[in-house]
Amino acid sequence: MKINGHIDSHNHLAKVLGTAPDLLESWVPEAEAKGIGFFMQGGIDPDDWQRQIELQARFPNQIGLCFGVHPYFAASKTIDELDPILDQLARLLGQQQKRDTILAIGEMGLDFRPAYTEKGRDSQIHALETQIELADFTGLPMVFHIVQAHPEVERIFSLWAPKNKRGLLHSYSGSVEQSEFWTKQGFLISIGGPVCHEKNKKARKLAANLPLEFLTLETDSPDQPPPAYNKGENPPKTLWEVAKTIGELRNVDAEEILAISKQNFLRVFGRA
Ligand SMILES: [Zn+2]
Repeated sequence: MKINGHIDSHNHLAKVLGTAPDLLESWVPEAEAKGIGFFMQGGIDPDDWQRQIELQARFPNQIGLCFGVHPYFAASKTIDELDPILDQLARLLGQQQKRDTILAIGEMGLDFRPAYTEKGRDSQIHALETQIELADFTGLPMVFHIVQAHPEVERIFSLWAPKNKRGLLHSYSGSVEQSEFWTKQGFLISIGGPVCHEKNKKARKLAANLPLEFLTLETDSPDQPPPAYNKGENPPKTLWEVAKTIGELRNVDAEEILAISKQNFLRVFGRA
């Protein structure tokens, strides 16, 4: 896998392709001008997988494909409605031809904020368990989305005990102690825009204390902006804001933080 420049370990430029494609005309070159050359996607639903494929056709060397069923999407379906979609995901991942280009499976996980649990709790758990199994079959790294459900995901992951223990925890919102459940197994902890908000003491503590060998950086573009940007309007060049904040917290040069993030990302997601 040949990647020029720094890596945004998690974003949703495929979503932007669907909602505001003209923005990509400025966002991608602006990021490239700042040395950011690769944008790993987070998967949401079948429409999103299709858009990721279109996005990669447009930017062939800059997009990392990641197909999965997002907890938000899972929460909006019944288990009966989800099963054919999870089958579709399995078929897509199983196509050997495609597997050479798919870097990971996800976003998988649980989001237990009230909006997603009123009806969607069981569906979310079903989608998570199926995707842990799929990751074990395919050997693909996993991309986790966990919000207000850290003990539940840890419990489910331990119960299923997959042999495959590669991947990252996107925009990790757990504590330093909780992160150790994942880093002990070799997972990367990805940190994004929330760390740039001075009030976010928890994220800052994590960013200051996480062993550097488990750190990756992301923007979650167009979401999760640093202070100067609005949600939905966060361009991937803000990877630098994240790097500068973490650099200040650790007294390490921002460029060095991005180099470490890239090295870690390639160790977990890279192919020979
Ligand atoms: Zn995401």
